[in-house]
Amino acid sequence: MQSIPLPTINNPLVDSFQRTHRSLRISVTDRCNIRCQYCMPAGLVQFLPRSQLLTYEQIERLVQALVPVGITRLRLTGGEPLVRAKVETLVKLLSSVPGVESIALTTNAMLLAEQIDELFDAGLRNINISLDTLRDSVFKKLTRRDGLEKVLAGIDAAVKRGLKPKLNAVLLRDINLEDAAELVEFALERQLTIRFIEYMPLDADGSWDGTQMISGDELRSLLKKRFGPMVMLDREDPSRPSTNFSFQNLSGTVGFIDSVSQPFCGACDRLRLTAEGLMRNCLFGKEEWDLRPFLQSEFNPERLVERARECVASKFAAHGIGTPEFVSPERTMHRIGG
Ligand code: SAM
Ligand code: SF4
Repeated sequence: MQSIPLPTINNPLVDSFQRTHRSLRISVTDRCNIRCQYCMPAGLVQFLPRSQLLTYEQIERLVQALVPVGITRLRLTGGEPLVRAKVETLVKLLSSVPGVESIALTTNAMLLAEQIDELFDAGLRNINISLDTLRDSVFKKLTRRDGLEKVLAGIDAAVKRGLKPKLNAVLLRDINLEDAAELVEFALERQLTIRFIEYMPLDADGSWDGTQMISGDELRSLLKKRFGPMVMLDREDPSRPSTNFSFQNLSGTVGFIDSVSQPFCGACDRLRLTAEGLMRNCLFGKEEWDLRPFLQSEFNPERLVERARECVASKFAAHGIGTPEFVSPERTMHRIGG
């Protein structure tokens, strides 16, 4: 991606714990073509009417307003971002905003094989793909849909375009814990990094109670038994959520996002934008800051930045999962943007 770096960032978005905010996760839709148990409910889902989604031009304007205060790393997510028409148009718009450092996409890859050329041509190089199992029956149980072959075709298509997608897996004890080793082998054979994300209390059915979650520690012991010793790598950028390990006897890297057991809130630099234009300062936050009034007929970047500052100023030190006061947020993962 070609970006024109801004020489200086003025008055960056710093919260009361001295965390400077650089990243924005942009949800482009709350819709999805599968129904992962850890994210969406089994039954009917009330999605936002399409007319309520921010347009691509509004998202572009919002990014234009936030880049000068340091928001330069963008990730497009959802719901499933590729179910929204022509996401490559958004990639192109954002790529040409001066100062944008990186644009990434998080996808379930069901539609990636058919969209990879357009996305690549628009400048997208950084893709995270969710892959929780290599078994059809488990995929069906976990996602309540068919389609593992499409996900695998999406991974192949990205690799064929010369990309190195990162794979993300969430393990649930009674469903896909057994898949962990096979997923590592799959990634290593393709020289891809796989990262295991701890299951967080963001599922729509509200059934998280910690017993289905596999902690990073537990998983590392299992993988060490199977693959031999692992060596922790330095975290080049403390704001990145993953702690990566290499294997002593194998070439390749495996990452662990231990969001529940070893939270990394102290280095968090992320803000989130819901598909309808509400800003959130944490996955687990209860409050949302409405940016829509500044994006509608009259674009008001100054007021928008002011509202973003209010959002950042209210950020808590940590998410507090496991503390007696913790309550899961009303919005579940697909409605926030992961
Ligand atoms: N649909 C895309 C996908 O699945 O990659 C993007 C959106 S999804 C909400 C983003 C990421 O959140 C995925 O990697 C998914 O596995 C993860 N995720 C969803 N619910 C989760 C939960 N309860 N705990 C941990 N990770 C979760
Ligand atoms: Fe869809 Fe992603 Fe949620 Fe799975 S995790 S249901 S793919 S939004």
